[in-house]
Amino acid sequence: MSGLSPLALPGAAVIGGGPAGLIAAEILRGAGVEVDLFDAMGSVGRKFLVAGKGGLNLTHAEPFAPFAARYREREEAVAAWLRRFDADALRAWARDQGVDTFVGSSGRVFPNDRKAAPLLRGWVRRLREEGVRFHVQHRWTGWTAEGALHFDTPLGPREVRAGATLLALGGGSWPQLGSDAGWVPWLEAAGIEVAPLQPANCGFDIGWSAHFAERHAGAPLKPVVLHWTDGSGQARQLQGECVVTATGIEGSAIYAIGADLREGIARDGGTDLQLDLVPGRDIDRLQRDLARPRGKRSLSEHLRRAAGLDPVRIGLLREVGGADALHDPARIAVLLKRLPLRLRRPRPMDEAISTAGGVRLEALDAGLMARRRPGVFCAGEMLDWEAPTGGYLLTACFASGIVAAEGMLAFLKQPRTPAEPVSEHAVPPALG
Ligand SMILES: Cc1cc2nc3c(=O)[nH]c(=O)nc-3n(C[C@H](O)[C@H](O)[C@H](O)COP(=O)(O)OP(=O)(O)OC[C@H]3O[C@@H](n4cnc5c(N)ncnc54)[C@H](O)[C@@H]3O)c2cc1C
Repeated sequence: MSGLSPLALPGAAVIGGGPAGLIAAEILRGAGVEVDLFDAMGSVGRKFLVAGKGGLNLTHAEPFAPFAARYREREEAVAAWLRRFDADALRAWARDQGVDTFVGSSGRVFPNDRKAAPLLRGWVRRLREEGVRFHVQHRWTGWTAEGALHFDTPLGPREVRAGATLLALGGGSWPQLGSDAGWVPWLEAAGIEVAPLQPANCGFDIGWSAHFAERHAGAPLKPVVLHWTDGSGQARQLQGECVVTATGIEGSAIYAIGADLREGIARDGGTDLQLDLVPGRDIDRLQRDLARPRGKRSLSEHLRRAAGLDPVRIGLLREVGGADALHDPARIAVLLKRLPLRLRRPRPMDEAISTAGGVRLEALDAGLMARRRPGVFCAGEMLDWEAPTGGYLLTACFASGIVAAEGMLAFLKQPRTPAEPVSEHAVPPALG
């Protein structure tokens, strides 16, 4: 028994009120389409709000080509979305919402107030004023045998038919914010291929000793140079920042190379990473400085003075090289320039900032409509692309939301015969 009356929507159902769903609702409503937006949670945009805690890195100011290359294997597909809506367009959109942005020293773009809440509040208010109908506490649970959308609500189940549907359900990280990847089996059952979800922008476990973890978890390492081998066997290096965690290592530099590390672990059961803990310092000079007599100074004080080492770097030398290594200047110098770490596994998806994998782009057309499910579109992080932190995640969510909304507009405008109503009901029952 349905606790809520079924809905037959002439226009669009947008499921998922993250940035991808909200921007799609904006485009659809702006084109005069009736829009109903559903979200499982009691309010929309929770992950967007949490992103605000880190200052809301909306996008990045680097030129188009290197920007698009951040999406790795999906560079070409994402570049097509970005040609429709790029970093400048996102900044202009924010300005239209009354939120000016600035470019930080690393090229990352933030709202001037570095907050998400005012932007989200104003955005949702305007969408409501423009006529978007919000239905919170509506958890989509797939399609009925007849092809209607099925929702669980506090008042009981509800069936909805819409002219076109956007799924913008997010990935599988931080499930407490609403995106719990519950949709994976339902899409697979509908014949929409999904690449396995995996943690992205996450830490990696190394397995420190309890003593080291207790003393140094949370300590930043900046700057460091990471040395690793990429998927094609190329030796690579990157300067950046990371943080020692209770179980291993994380931070923006780790996120930037996380896909290579994750793939290396999947392939070989573990992967090697070397840290240059003293970038810019020459190994011979280091050796000479460390070999100077230390007199009455403690070992830690000697290492601090001779090589500028802080407690976490000294701790790493001891943890990786053993206590004896600290008495051998040549060995210390080698360890400082190439500290070898063995990464065992990525941290669980729940903890990751984002998710790799998702709806395969090959299962969608250029307007992001499911080839096997006409009238059903997908956008945002639930699609199979990944990118490092730096504003690339939100930018691709916005851009794909806009591309999908425009695909929906084109679909809704298609002439249909009376026998073929504008409804997902037109989908063959075999796919239902
Ligand atoms: C801690 C943290 C910090 C971040 N910081 C940044 C940053 O600074 N810059 C950046 O670019 N990116 C950042 N991100 C990533 C970014 O927030 C996400 O990539 C982005 O929010 C994804 O947008 P989306 O619209 O695809 O999905 P989401 O924002 O995840 O929204 C999906 C929505 O779908 C709803 N939903 C899911 N399943 C169902 C269902 N079955 N029925 C109904 N509704 C459902 C959810 O409740 C949710 O509201 C951060 C992420 C985290 C976790």
